[in-house]
Amino acid sequence: MTDTTAENTVRVRFAPSPTGSLHIGGARTAYFNWLFARQHQGVFVLRIDDTDQKRSTEASYQQILESFRWLEIDWDEGPDVGGEYGPYRQSLRHHIYNEQLNRLFDEGKVYPCFCTPEQLAEDRENAQKRGETPRYSGRCRHLSKAQQARRLENGEPAAYRLRCPDTGTTIVHDIIRGDVEFQNTELDDFIVWKTDNTPTYHFASCVDDALMHITHVIRAEEHLSNTPRHVVLFEALGFTVPKFAHVPMILAPDRSKLSKRHGATSVEEYREQGILPEALVNYLLLLGFSPGEDREVLSQDEAVSVFNLERVAKHAAVYDVKKLEWLNAHYLRKRPLDTVLQAVWSDLEQRGWVESGMSREQLAWVRTLVSAMQERARTLPELVESLRCYFEDVTDFDAKGIRKYFEKPEAAARLRLAADALETVLPFTVVNVEQRYRELIAQLGVKAGELIHPTRLALTGVTGGPSLFEVMAMLGREVCQARLRAAADKIENGVLSKGEARS
Ligand code: GLU
Repeated sequence: MTDTTAENTVRVRFAPSPTGSLHIGGARTAYFNWLFARQHQGVFVLRIDDTDQKRSTEASYQQILESFRWLEIDWDEGPDVGGEYGPYRQSLRHHIYNEQLNRLFDEGKVYPCFCTPEQLAEDRENAQKRGETPRYSGRCRHLSKAQQARRLENGEPAAYRLRCPDTGTTIVHDIIRGDVEFQNTELDDFIVWKTDNTPTYHFASCVDDALMHITHVIRAEEHLSNTPRHVVLFEALGFTVPKFAHVPMILAPDRSKLSKRHGATSVEEYREQGILPEALVNYLLLLGFSPGEDREVLSQDEAVSVFNLERVAKHAAVYDVKKLEWLNAHYLRKRPLDTVLQAVWSDLEQRGWVESGMSREQLAWVRTLVSAMQERARTLPELVESLRCYFEDVTDFDAKGIRKYFEKPEAAARLRLAADALETVLPFTVVNVEQRYRELIAQLGVKAGELIHPTRLALTGVTGGPSLFEVMAMLGREVCQARLRAAADKIENGVLSKGEARS
């Protein structure tokens, strides 16, 4: 067994705030932590940063855990599994933060600040008027111990600030970005404890990282500006400063911030939209990391072996939904037919397309259909939708298809000829249907597409899908003939242009 306390054991953490669903950016950061832990036989800690009681919810907490379980990203220590350094929810660690605060206070490293919000606002305004960057005036910095004690005893609301160096620089050693230098004048004596008697994010996070023996803090780039403060805080607390790695942001294709208007952004939404967990996890790897040699499809094990924190990109990753769908199609093809059938069965049942008491032949037919569509669908819902024409009449047709294939003087007559030609195909198999169609094409002296495309549109309502002859064999002779004739009727009666088109 690994000794998880040994000095050289890698220990990383992902620390979501349960204020919403797990965003793709968070999932990616968590996955990079997980990969790093796994490849170093280290420990991955899931910590819940729920100090903000107003915004944190139990539902969000449960959903985050569920999203990770679905993605099969597991943790070694965390709120549900426990561990040596728990509890792993910040809301249960108040006494720990309090103890550390008291220690810093006794050591004179933090001081109470009695400035009122109005005073602070006024200071800010004055600084702005002078054209200076607003920073804490230092009003309470030099109060004597006696003054502090008297005001505290009087019950004056107090926040606590960390005494920070106001000259020199603080350097953040970042594994991805190299050394990043910050001027200490920027640090300010920042607040570690609020007047409502709760720790700030900075304080709770550093205390936890230290007491949970986190060796590497791998987190989102937006936290880089917090890190010099954290370095100073770790030092004040007398703890070893962990190593840092700030992973790049994820931008929308137009390089704006990725948001709802770009489609699904939370793990839960991807799941609802039929993205498979193995495809999403694979995609997460590509958000800021390039496995090299044009490799894009990698299993979790392969990802563990190729991942390299030092080679994570510094620049923002651009979200590419097409790539995700492409990966999804790949993993969908790889899934055993039985698991795909299982995954779509209840949906098919709800639509009234299948039922539990089906005959062997019917069941075999459904398997053939699902297997054919599994080859080409990008997602499970798309797969289900592409089965519609096998269970329901085709009542509307692709608008572009109508213009291209039905609005021709000879269209209806050709569809009728095709329907008649199918009469003699026995048995009605892919090979036999194709042979009969090829004969008819030769007889008519047309290009294959001139018969094949209108036929497909008449039979399925759409212009794409599996090979036409496969489609025809799956539909069976009677349905093919009826649909070809029905489409011919509609073309002749001119009803297609009047609202039967699907745009
Ligand atoms: N709870 C913080 C967040 O969700 C954690 C940041 C960190 O990793 O330190 O952004």
